[in-house]
Amino acid sequence: MNPKRPQGFTLDIPFAVPPQLDATMDIQIPALAWQSTGDGGYRRTLHPGDRPITIEVHQSEQGLLFTADGQHPNLPDLLRRMFPTQVADLQLGADPRLRALRRRYRGVVVMWAPPFEALVLTVLSQNRTGEIVRRVYPHLDAACHGLTPQRLADLDPDTLRTVIRSAGPYKADRLSQLAKLVAADGIDSFNTRIVDAPAAQALSYLETLPGVAHKTAACVLVFSARTSATLPVDVHLFRVAGRLGLADHDGRLTTTSRDAVINALLAHGPDTALAHFLFLLVGRTTCTAADPTCGSCFLRGRCRHAATASLSRKATP
Ligand code: SF4
Repeated sequence: MNPKRPQGFTLDIPFAVPPQLDATMDIQIPALAWQSTGDGGYRRTLHPGDRPITIEVHQSEQGLLFTADGQHPNLPDLLRRMFPTQVADLQLGADPRLRALRRRYRGVVVMWAPPFEALVLTVLSQNRTGEIVRRVYPHLDAACHGLTPQRLADLDPDTLRTVIRSAGPYKADRLSQLAKLVAADGIDSFNTRIVDAPAAQALSYLETLPGVAHKTAACVLVFSARTSATLPVDVHLFRVAGRLGLADHDGRLTTTSRDAVINALLAHGPDTALAHFLFLLVGRTTCTAADPTCGSCFLRGRCRHAATASLSRKATP
């Protein structure tokens, strides 16, 4: 083992398919709490007890190797919970486009995050890149001495604004307000509202919180409650699903077209919600907004847009 890695705790979690760690950590909301170590691994701080513990994760031969600079009896279960399942295990139906997505990203681990952490990460990611959230989150966690609703609610407003500045200082007020609301309710009650309540009820509750609309609420439900009842629709998923022909729309992302895309995707299988971020991975690589590179896309043989573009090229004299 690299001597620079944290010493004191080691856990190797095996997976059926060799994990694709970089793709796992690319775009999922829970991954934004982890930072690159620069040697193929990722690092974050966890607070399973009173003291912070620095964790690193790297790929191992069989799965994911976690090392940490401290131990806690709950740490192994917490890490297994954060990296619970792979794309290969998802039920995505028989559609050849979804099967191709599952095959391509089969080693990606579909991550989990506690509901309040998922909520804060998602608010930070609104109108900001994942890279910015990765830079901000550790400072926010450190300023809180471990993120909890009460500690975030107690944070001095100027400190909070400074710590999250690059993710949008205007979000300080809404984060503070929602932390106060959740703290007043109690974290156990909040978790129950998200994880145990019917999805429609949980969605409605989340949408009452400051700064939380459907996309943010759906992110929390998908990653923390593993819902199969809704999914977050952003411009990338909207574009890729439309180009593939998995959902029909006129290119305008409205509430009506968003709900139509959600219904069309969920009709394919119970885990399509969990798989929503695969569309974002395609959208970040080949299926960019301005210039899709269909010639190098693994989906080109099954894609409506690629087929139409090819036909119009042939028709052009
Ligand atoms: S084939 Fe082209 S349009 Fe279709 S998903 Fe790939 S890049 Fe996008």
